Amino acid sequence: MPPSLPTLKAQGHALASPERQLERLDAVELPREFADACEAAGLWPLDAHALDVLQINVGRLCNQTCRHCHVDAGPDRDEVMSRETLEACLSFLDRSEVRTVDLTGGAPELNPHFRWFVEEVRARGRHVIDRCNLTILETGAGRDLPEFFARNRVEVVCSLPHYRELSTDRQRGRGVYERSIAALRALNAVGYGDGESGLKLRIVTNPVGAFLPPSQGSLEAEWKRELERLHGIVFDSLFTITNMPIARYLEWLELSENLDDYLQRLVEAFNPVAAAGVMCRSMISVAHDGTLHDCDFNQMLELGLAPGAPATIFDAEPARLIGRAIVAHRHCFGCTAGGGSSCGGQLD
Ligand code: SF4
Ligand code: SF4
Repeated sequence: MPPSLPTLKAQGHALASPERQLERLDAVELPREFADACEAAGLWPLDAHALDVLQINVGRLCNQTCRHCHVDAGPDRDEVMSRETLEACLSFLDRSEVRTVDLTGGAPELNPHFRWFVEEVRARGRHVIDRCNLTILETGAGRDLPEFFARNRVEVVCSLPHYRELSTDRQRGRGVYERSIAALRALNAVGYGDGESGLKLRIVTNPVGAFLPPSQGSLEAEWKRELERLHGIVFDSLFTITNMPIARYLEWLELSENLDDYLQRLVEAFNPVAAAGVMCRSMISVAHDGTLHDCDFNQMLELGLAPGAPATIFDAEPARLIGRAIVAHRHCFGCTAGGGSSCGGQLD
């Protein structure tokens, strides 16, 4: 495996700071703000109307350092959720009617309490989603994860930039494509994606450049055809997501001199239907230190919840999270452009 690049944090890069990221976004000249666009669509203030999903970022440690990572995750990150904080998440679940626990990272499987936690959530009858980077399944400690996932009926949502090697390795690093394909085969071998076992395998793809993703429906047919033709791989569905202009993707936009144009493109493509369905309206996001945020992107920008809402999972009463105002900023245009974008793919 080739050596990974240092994260922004390890480089001491200015964009490792959430304040600097927000300043850079604010410095771009835009025709309107996110609040104005929502207001014109009759959606302001944007609020949370439900609490269906508890998304937990169990740590920023990752075995990769992908070019577009909005977490600035990598092997040099040491933020990992403790057992005590995971226990607070379980206690929250016991008090709530949340149906789905969505585990993300970094590579969530690198949290030392990962398997214990998945089993605890399943014992409570809740659905578990694991956001998997695939290559983690090809590491020593991860090779039996497909069987573990199948045993616990975990929905696996895995990221793969492209079904071709060049585009994937350009964004994720040399050799990532080959190991990702091997991991998909291992998931297929235990029944994932076969359409009969009920073991759901989704693939998430994001554009490799400064453009919006094409329509999810047309891309899914192409991906299914090509992955089966090239490698005999099957999967249930494809999610297309828009790259969020924060962290390492923001750095890439600046380096490639695409930041202004990309933000303009997001603003121009504002879609009120997508805005009405943004994922923060029905979920809550927990950071490795237990702080609460409207979504994983807001978490990376350390925005927290609106005043009056609980600040951490330790003191959160589920009912107080419904009806809260969403803390929105310019990056939110990334969720509402074109067909819209969320952890579950296109919105419109
Ligand atoms: S995009 Fe995913 S796999 Fe890549 S560095 Fe970030 S968390 Fe890790
Ligand atoms: S970035 Fe987060 S807070 Fe903003 S619209 Fe998207 S999901 Fe909601």
